[in-house]
Amino acid sequence: MAYVITDTCIKDELCVAVCPTDCIHPKKDEPEFEAATQVYVDPEGCIDCGACIPVCTSGSIFVAEELPEDKKEFLEKNAAFYARK
Ligand code: SF4
Ligand code: SF4
Repeated sequence: MAYVITDTCIKDELCVAVCPTDCIHPKKDEPEFEAATQVYVDPEGCIDCGACIPVCTSGSIFVAEELPEDKKEFLEKNAAFYARK
């Protein structure tokens, strides 16, 4: 079960810098970055290491099972970012 990023993300890429599997995108140098409202975790690449959570100052990252009820849609939204590639 992957980690999930939600809409309070401020795109500062602090999580991108610590993710050992490079599974958080879009990154600043990728074409989708400007238009994206947040960054997303690739559920295929996430190894559930938890390194991203403590660095996120906006509290935007959740373990999928612990997503608040009103943020559950982001499970699908994170996966969808990668499904259309
Ligand atoms: S650290 Fe948090 S706010 Fe920053 S890009 Fe990652 S999820 Fe978004
Ligand atoms: S839990 Fe680990 S592998 Fe998954 S997105 Fe966060 S830093 Fe990357």
